[in-house]
Amino acid sequence: MLGLNNFEKADRKNIWHPFSPLAGNKPIGIKKAKGVYLYTQDGRKIMDAVSSWWVNIHGHSHKRINKALSRQAARLEHVIFAGFTHKPAVDLSKTLKRVLPKSIDKIFFSDNGSTSVEVAIKLAVQYWHNQGKPRKKIIALEGAYHGDTFGSMSVAERNLFSAPFNELLFEVDFVPFPKGDGAEAIARMKELVTEETAAFIFEPLVQGAAGMQMYAAEVLDKLIDIARSKEVVCIADEVMTGFGRTGKMFACDHLRNDPDLFCLSKGITGGYLPMGITAVNERIVKAFDVEDRTKAFFHGHSYTANPLACAVANASMKLLLGKKCQQDIQRITEQHQAYLDQFRFHDKVKEIRHCGTILAIELHADDAGYTSNLKEKIYDFFMGRDLLLRPLGNVIYILPPYIITDQELQRLYKAIDVFLLEL
Ligand SMILES: *Cc1c(COP(=O)(O)O)cnc(C)c1O
Repeated sequence: MLGLNNFEKADRKNIWHPFSPLAGNKPIGIKKAKGVYLYTQDGRKIMDAVSSWWVNIHGHSHKRINKALSRQAARLEHVIFAGFTHKPAVDLSKTLKRVLPKSIDKIFFSDNGSTSVEVAIKLAVQYWHNQGKPRKKIIALEGAYHGDTFGSMSVAERNLFSAPFNELLFEVDFVPFPKGDGAEAIARMKELVTEETAAFIFEPLVQGAAGMQMYAAEVLDKLIDIARSKEVVCIADEVMTGFGRTGKMFACDHLRNDPDLFCLSKGITGGYLPMGITAVNERIVKAFDVEDRTKAFFHGHSYTANPLACAVANASMKLLLGKKCQQDIQRITEQHQAYLDQFRFHDKVKEIRHCGTILAIELHADDAGYTSNLKEKIYDFFMGRDLLLRPLGNVIYILPPYIITDQELQRLYKAIDVFLLEL
């Protein structure tokens, strides 16, 4: 363990890291972070081109967010949210309602992306239950990822990660991933949607964990139209796509249809503190807003609407809605497009995809998927250049904080070009 400082040694002894096999796990100690850079314990400066798992939209240690956090900590750090409320939560609900579709009526708080999905699924099922016409079937898209809890795993693709649990997950009908004109997906959707279908859940426009797989807004609109024809509850999981990622505030802003439920997390606090939001439209709320107390939604988490998380979310939203950030999102989108326009296809490249601030390059691989052997090769190549580009299997992607400069983006594109040349 030469070269490791004491805390890195203690980490190996004590800590179990997410999505990481215990054997061979070598986490790097981070001392501090500022803007788009992580500073390691041993003096390296690494560019965080994946926004620390898609959460850090304004860069690390942002002055304004830091201030909001310390101010709130001095006032109110937490309070039980049943029977009590506080201004940071109310302010956040007002801001979210201003940016979400007009039909959104209530904001339900939880504490991460998976729980925002659990809440949405439970609301959709109880919506039918409360009206005395129970519906239990759920439709999802092939390739979907909605989180790591049992409900969110159930509505997602069965794969290596879910294998030990598959028999314990509830059954869901899957529609093929809507490639191209989505004809196959649309046809299957028509077959599957019936009066027994409770909900249709989807990651709008981009399936993140599946490898930044992208599909057309028009096709999703058609799938939602079919679901709507039988009053199916439509759930948009915008945990990754929300808060500017796709070039608009929400990926659903590219659609004609407004979903009934939105699941939000990741970028909402600017990557500071955990928070989950399930935004609920009037139609769903109505089925719960009744005298009969047995029809209440009996669900909650200890840290529901944590005031510190709400305060940083308010500060992050203020930055996000500001002119500078909106221009940055536009600028990154244009830079990605310019790179894509001059991109020279290489026989190892299968596809290059772009949506808003997300750019993805999929490589040909015999073992395509999350566990592809290419994954380590890609990761090591870029880390060797102090660039954090943690690939999804054989897919290299850039998903940067919006403060990243054009020069920094150019450095990433050039490194990708070199990697592809040397591959
Ligand atoms: C990350 C993610 C989740 C899960 O969020 P966690 O906060 O990691 O539980 C759910 N859905 C999508 C689309 C995600 O990208």
